[in-house]
Amino acid sequence: MTIILHVDFNSYFAAVEQQANPRLRGKPIGVTGGDRIKRTVLGAASVEAKRFGVKTGMLEWQAKQLCPQIILVQGDSDKYLETTKRFLNILKCYSPYLEVFSIDEAFMELPNNKSEARNPKYETISNVLNPNVQNVLDFKNLNLEFVSDFDIRISNFANAVRIALDIKSRIKSEIGEWITCSIGISYNKLMAKLAGSLQKPDGLVVIPNQEEAIKVLDKIELDEICGIGPRIKKRLNNMGIFDFQTLRQASLQSLLASFKSYGQILYNMARGIDYSKVMPFYEKEEVKSIGHRHTIDHDTDDPLEIKQILLKLTEMVARRLRAKNLVGKTIHCWYRSALHPPGVVTFSHPEGGFTGNGMQITIQCTNDGLDIFKTAWKVFRNLWGGEKIRMVGVSISNLRSQIPQNLSLLPEIKKTEIITKVLDKINDKYGEFTLQRGIMISLNNADNCNRRSRVFRVTSL
Ligand SMILES: [Mg+2]
Repeated sequence: MTIILHVDFNSYFAAVEQQANPRLRGKPIGVTGGDRIKRTVLGAASVEAKRFGVKTGMLEWQAKQLCPQIILVQGDSDKYLETTKRFLNILKCYSPYLEVFSIDEAFMELPNNKSEARNPKYETISNVLNPNVQNVLDFKNLNLEFVSDFDIRISNFANAVRIALDIKSRIKSEIGEWITCSIGISYNKLMAKLAGSLQKPDGLVVIPNQEEAIKVLDKIELDEICGIGPRIKKRLNNMGIFDFQTLRQASLQSLLASFKSYGQILYNMARGIDYSKVMPFYEKEEVKSIGHRHTIDHDTDDPLEIKQILLKLTEMVARRLRAKNLVGKTIHCWYRSALHPPGVVTFSHPEGGFTGNGMQITIQCTNDGLDIFKTAWKVFRNLWGGEKIRMVGVSISNLRSQIPQNLSLLPEIKKTEIITKVLDKINDKYGEFTLQRGIMISLNNADNCNRRSRVFRVTSL
């Protein structure tokens, strides 16, 4: 039987800052991206700040309005990475099947009997447990509200609960007493992550089986599950689906028709089914390149318009890199002309009779959208003869993992990384391009002056 733990720190950046500086403890604090942008957003808010309604992603002045006494602390990515490393070292004691999901989240599959037999290190898992925790374990005191009629003591989950409590106590003693995490335990990743989100801070929730999973699903909103963002929620709402009960009544056929292959995932979600595997980093599929292209719905030779499209594409490429914890070196930019332009040297594209051109440049490892854009734009300007174009694309290859050793030590670059992380978090939560770089906003304004309406379709490669 598969048992998966999802461990997620509460108000991570803020808690790490409060751990490092005891004077900040118990006080509402916000972690900012630094002083590079004037109106910065909060990368994290402490539990105390959240009580005033302050949320991650708010602008500083909004946070100050809700909570005038909020203390703003500049983020320090080194500190967070160091803490994450220590936390992962604790988790490694319990299982080799560990997937790092983000800087403050990880999935862990407990070794089953078969793997225990293969790996003697995990055979005596109960020996590594803190004996105090094992002895005082009082299941009645655990707030397992969603599994009230389920006797955890006689289930396979009892050991997982012990491990979860052990992890919590080791985090407190080895990382810091101010650092807490919520742990969700379940039979698959999706349900483990959901369980972990049900109780914050310092939560511990078990969803032991599909029957209980469906009970939980029927109590929550559609977008409370990982995998249903605002756009999918809206599309489901348009189909008359507002909760998981109704989603379960939708036929697989209709979901496939509306969402293509994602329809199957939504169909499974509503039933608490998830086949995704815990992917230890060493087993992660190798991604060879990441790219996006955009087919414009009209022919254009307007450099501003092309620049704007490239900016969006490069931001998307960069976000995908960061989501996969990758950096890349080789940037390829290409375009397709609308017509055979007379007198322009291009190589001919066999498909569709279009001509186009493309070239690549290798730079220093990056996952920053602006870096990628600058290179892609340079390539484009070198290639482009000023003819009308129909499609433009950008990709990055020569990829490698973004491991802490690869991170830059230059303070300017570290600041950019924090800002980027904050941008990603907000855009993940509120949708692509909720927050944009200043240069993109100015281009959007220029674009509005054009009063030309156009559809922005993006094809993922
Ligand atoms: Mg968290």
